[in-house]
Amino acid sequence: MTHCCAEMAKHLDEGEVALRYDPRFRGYGIPIFDGGSAKQQINFCPWCGSRLPESLSDKWFEILDEMFPDFDGFADDRTPEEFKSDAWWKKRGL
Ligand SMILES: [Zn+2]
Repeated sequence: MTHCCAEMAKHLDEGEVALRYDPRFRGYGIPIFDGGSAKQQINFCPWCGSRLPESLSDKWFEILDEMFPDFDGFADDRTPEEFKSDAWWKKRGL
């Protein structure tokens, strides 16, 4: 299973509750209503109580900063394709 429990999978799939999963970072978060895409990270599943896997956002930036010393974050169009999905961390066994 991709997520910790069927409830989590169902809610993320339906997208009706204020919880989002970002496969790029393996990050679970509650959207912040400031008009942007910021999220408050959560560490435990609200339904089954499992500890969620550690977010890989720091690692994402670390690797891309190394590849491109002047890396400009999400908007940088040099971001390799594998870093736009969960491919990069799955491939590295993270
Ligand atoms: Zn769960």
